[in-house]
Amino acid sequence: MRYAIFSDVHGNLAALDAVLDDIRAVGMQTGRRVDQYWCLGDVVGYGPEPGGCVARVRGRCDICIPGNHDWAAIGKLDLADFSEFAAQSAHWTRAQLSETDYNYLHANRQTTGVGDFTLVHGSPSDPIWEYLTTEDAAAENFPYFDTLYCVVGHSHLPTVFLQRITDHVAPLRARTRALTNRQLTLALTDPYGPTRASLESGELSANSNRSTSAMPCEHVTPAPGVFRVPRGYRAIINPGSVGQPRDGDPRASYVIYDSDEGFLFRRVPYDLGRTTQKIRALGLPERMVERLATGT
Ligand code: ZN
Repeated sequence: MRYAIFSDVHGNLAALDAVLDDIRAVGMQTGRRVDQYWCLGDVVGYGPEPGGCVARVRGRCDICIPGNHDWAAIGKLDLADFSEFAAQSAHWTRAQLSETDYNYLHANRQTTGVGDFTLVHGSPSDPIWEYLTTEDAAAENFPYFDTLYCVVGHSHLPTVFLQRITDHVAPLRARTRALTNRQLTLALTDPYGPTRASLESGELSANSNRSTSAMPCEHVTPAPGVFRVPRGYRAIINPGSVGQPRDGDPRASYVIYDSDEGFLFRRVPYDLGRTTQKIRALGLPERMVERLATGT
């Protein structure tokens, strides 16, 4: 099987179209087209073409799960908890969505499973909000899914966490865990999303203050190219972000999984000028242009 897996489009249609073109191009080159397209959430939020992105995802993806920005835009999260800017952005985004777009984002399930995969936006224990960027946080989350792989988005950083499979099978934990108010505030008050530094410090992880008795796991930052999960390991995998990368590389990031080959991490240049022009024409914050140009 081959699956195209991407996340965090954030209303950047030029980046999304470049990724969809690249998926087709890889299929042509290898003679093996993907069987399914999966989107791990945050189709909209901040970016200038939310409606176009939802239409594209709706038309192309076999599965799309919701992210925090999708829920903010359709009123599923209480905007009273958001910073003023984030609330304004959510209102603006909502006004750009058609009824069909709205209904599509509304209907998507928080978590779903396909074969060896569990799909969530944040983490398996807290699908909408938790950032998985530290080994401790990831280690705590392995017992929350029962498949070989879990694919996540939300941090905008291409990442792999590996955990060795042992004879001892931990019981699958309940899928409810509240985020503290402080973490929620941190996540919501930065109008442009958290920086890599704040993500890697672990301060946005719901697990950061807990002592962990979880099995350890290993953090890998995958380079573009094929990553094979070693036999005897489970993995949590983040394909990075299509429309707002934050790892210092402004190119769109996504993954093609091939059950024979492994995980192909791709970086794709796109027409940044088109997105920049739209951001400026709409009067959206200039800081967004800077962060897209630098991938931060
Ligand atoms: Zn996001």
